[in-house]
Amino acid sequence: MKSSYDFIVVGSGLGGLQCAYILSKKGYKVCVLEKNINIGGTLQNLHLGNCTFSSGMHYLGSLDDGQVLNKLFRYFNILGRLHIKRMDPYGFDRFRIGNQEYAYPMGWELFQEKMTLYYPGESEAIKSYVKLMKEVAGSQDIYNLRVPGNSDIRTNKYLKTGIYPAIQSITKNKDLQNALCALNFVYAGDKNTSPLYIHALINNYYIRSAYRLVGGSGQIANLLAQNIIDQGGEIFTQKTVDKFIFNDEKLVGVKTAENEVFMANRLISNVHPAATLSMIEEGKVRKSFRNRLTGIPNTISVFGLHIRLKPGTFPLLNYNYYHYTNDDVWAVSDYNTKNWPNFYYLYTPSKPEDKGYTECVSIYAYMNYDEVKKWAHLPIHNRGDEYEQWKALKAEKLIALATKSFPMLKHNIIDWMAATPLTYQDYIGTPKGAMYGTLRDYHNPMESYIFPKTKIPNLFFTGQNINLHGMLGVSISSLLTCGEFVGLHDLINEVNEA
Ligand SMILES: Cc1cc2nc3c(=O)[nH]c(=O)nc-3n(C[C@H](O)[C@H](O)[C@H](O)COP(=O)(O)OP(=O)(O)OC[C@H]3O[C@@H](n4cnc5c(N)ncnc54)[C@H](O)[C@@H]3O)c2cc1C
Repeated sequence: MKSSYDFIVVGSGLGGLQCAYILSKKGYKVCVLEKNINIGGTLQNLHLGNCTFSSGMHYLGSLDDGQVLNKLFRYFNILGRLHIKRMDPYGFDRFRIGNQEYAYPMGWELFQEKMTLYYPGESEAIKSYVKLMKEVAGSQDIYNLRVPGNSDIRTNKYLKTGIYPAIQSITKNKDLQNALCALNFVYAGDKNTSPLYIHALINNYYIRSAYRLVGGSGQIANLLAQNIIDQGGEIFTQKTVDKFIFNDEKLVGVKTAENEVFMANRLISNVHPAATLSMIEEGKVRKSFRNRLTGIPNTISVFGLHIRLKPGTFPLLNYNYYHYTNDDVWAVSDYNTKNWPNFYYLYTPSKPEDKGYTECVSIYAYMNYDEVKKWAHLPIHNRGDEYEQWKALKAEKLIALATKSFPMLKHNIIDWMAATPLTYQDYIGTPKGAMYGTLRDYHNPMESYIFPKTKIPNLFFTGQNINLHGMLGVSISSLLTCGEFVGLHDLINEVNEA
């Protein structure tokens, strides 16, 4: 048995590490338990030859001076210590939708100007769209580092509005509707469920400023971990928590698959809520609570293809590229195995020394877990020839489509590796490899909302399933979770004053 802690954090994803940072900074005795060899969850780097890929964090937003992520990174003591590069201010995100091409510039004014150049007859609609985005994003107190007031989940009208109907009410022009919703891959946009506030928060976050991570997102996890250790916290890897320990009704610790016991006054789970509940035996939690959390639908998964290329053959892109094969950006709603890939996202991870060219390209396309479930029961590193052949076929299809826009791609490939929904399920622990965790549905926001405080007195949640996924969403979740112990008001003040 290991010594007792004030807090055990289960999982070293972004949210777990941020909570451990906040609490160890406050002087609490904290330990993080991570099942993998490497920390970071979706922040982990992947390596192929001399390429470093991110498993799931490619670019950051609102990092300019005074913007929200800048303040958060300053508070977490990682600002100025990261290898990042400001993306192309005149086109950091570029899109091909059917036969149309668009680029998103940084700054709402420039955005409005550029959209009006694409659609001169729609200037009023574009103006209304920009006004709405600013208003919705600005109304979400916590995302603007204000103590939550009028943006409370129970009362905020934007949580109950869908982005798809909202955009239709702004303009009847289908092409403009597509252009305004072109960034929906970053929230797995589904026209039947995606809320307006998520679209607004994320578009606002990136349009204010966008930066890519040079050398992968693992650097964020490593810096946070170093800070935690410097503050007296402990991080243990290869500790798979498989059971929560109760003393009568009181949660007092966890047991790992490696048969170790860790005791604590309070536990924070950075693991998907359904997976967390599977560690709690029947009878310790109300059936209605268990059913609700395990019943929340999840976002779709993804197929990630990481390619190593011959040197000097592929340009280093200072932008992301999103390709929709049809003139409809709601690719999730339209996706089936026959029309796959109806969409892909491509970017070039880079090394600090890269100039002009890169040897590394990542391409992602949506994928349902059902496509891979028949191999789920097989051992992780030995799922057999059929699985390998299936991956190769999918890789071939993606490469063929991407080669139409990047003709230098196909014939310069040295090597590739793929991450499937099973990879995400195995390595991150998200059920069915859900890309962004639980799904938010504007029809019933309360149903899909998970509060940090659970029905079990000493158990709290953090991470992408609270509020919102991504760097911004998870950082805010960490404040909300730790605010339960250190006071949200004070914590927000500290972030603003850091
Ligand atoms: C393909 C892809 C691209 C993305 N791109 C971006 C992007 O460009 N920008 C952005 O902001 N966001 C992006 N995201 C989203 C972002 O990466 C995630 O929302 C965020 O990293 C999730 O953090 P989390 O705290 O929820 O932890 P997770 O990453 O979900 O980590 C959970 C951790 O818990 C551990 N764990 C699970 N079970 C156990 C157990 N039983 N015992 C111990 N440990 C356990 C896991 O191993 C893992 O380390 C992307 C996501 C994906 C999938």
